[in-house]
Amino acid sequence: MSPVSKADYYEVLGVSRDASDQELKSAYRKQALKYHPDRNPGDHTAEEKFKEASEAYQVLGDAEKRAAYDRYGHAGVGAAGAGSYGGGFSGSVDIGDIFGDLFGEMFGTGGGRGGQSRSRVQRGDDLRVDLTLNFEDAIFGHETEIKIRRLEVCETCHGTGSASGKGPVTCQQCQGRGQIRYQQGFFSVARTCSACNGAGSIIPDPCQSCRGETRTARETKLGVKVPPGVEDGTRIRYSGEGDSGRFGGPKGDLYVVLSIRAHDVFERQGNDLHCVVPISFPQAALGAEIEIESIDGSVPLKIPEGTQSGKEIRVRGRGVPILNSKGKGDLIVTVAVQVPKKLSKVQRELMRQLADSLAIENKPASPSFLDKMKDLFN
Ligand SMILES: [Zn+2]
Ligand SMILES: [Zn+2]
Repeated sequence: MSPVSKADYYEVLGVSRDASDQELKSAYRKQALKYHPDRNPGDHTAEEKFKEASEAYQVLGDAEKRAAYDRYGHAGVGAAGAGSYGGGFSGSVDIGDIFGDLFGEMFGTGGGRGGQSRSRVQRGDDLRVDLTLNFEDAIFGHETEIKIRRLEVCETCHGTGSASGKGPVTCQQCQGRGQIRYQQGFFSVARTCSACNGAGSIIPDPCQSCRGETRTARETKLGVKVPPGVEDGTRIRYSGEGDSGRFGGPKGDLYVVLSIRAHDVFERQGNDLHCVVPISFPQAALGAEIEIESIDGSVPLKIPEGTQSGKEIRVRGRGVPILNSKGKGDLIVTVAVQVPKKLSKVQRELMRQLADSLAIENKPASPSFLDKMKDLFN
């Protein structure tokens, strides 16, 4: 890369000259994520691109500098030699802010790059535990105990990582910077210190139990309270119950993810419960008052006179409790008129008499007729 023919800042970020601040910011984020040296170790081209993008955003992200650049080009912002990442940023552009986000995106941690060296301190991971519940437990709520294996602060070294308990000391190789800088042509290039892996410090006497990691895996029991009305796939978050952080970093969270077993009788749709109840032809024709077993005890069900097979009868408030609320869904009963397969002699005779008086015209109709009939009676 020659400092004489500097690339246009707008081209570097891949935006138009009238790009909004937001567009600039997201364009920079995209580039920085793609070319970040931590993601492209040893790739010089990526490193250069990363520097270019940072430099471009440093200028275009600042209204004053952008105006000067628009008018005078690179000369207007005194850009020569600027833009090595990890230091030297100044002015009103909040690159640190963007970096905090970037770092989180790349490593799944909330922390930023505090200062020059990569911190040893790391937030603990979030953990996930799958919990299978019986159908009724999801409806009425449930309390149980789960076993989890998570990283907890090492008891041997009390989280210092060192056998003596003194903790890390400054890395001699990089003087605590975490990076070794050297001159390459016009540029000062930074490389991650190999002695400390960029931490800026080393542990001379690592703890035997945790190998200097400050955490060890342990099994723990945890009480879990499932509220009534949870659905399949519900995640319950237990803040700070995940892995402990490295070197005193914050704890991760624990997510208990629920899966719910099917029920032999009831099917759930949102907060409503569905079931099918067989009724006899006379019950359907004459109407009836019956009792059925719902999920929470018996329920009186009124079958109106002339009920068609397939009709849905709604029983208000006998469904699933609505999560974190006092309401309840409904029980929806689909009645299925059953035709007897075998008749006694007497029944057969009665049925014949009935048949004569109930004769209907067996005229073909469109299959949608059945749906219409359902609509008509529901
Ligand atoms: Zn230890
Ligand atoms: Zn070092």
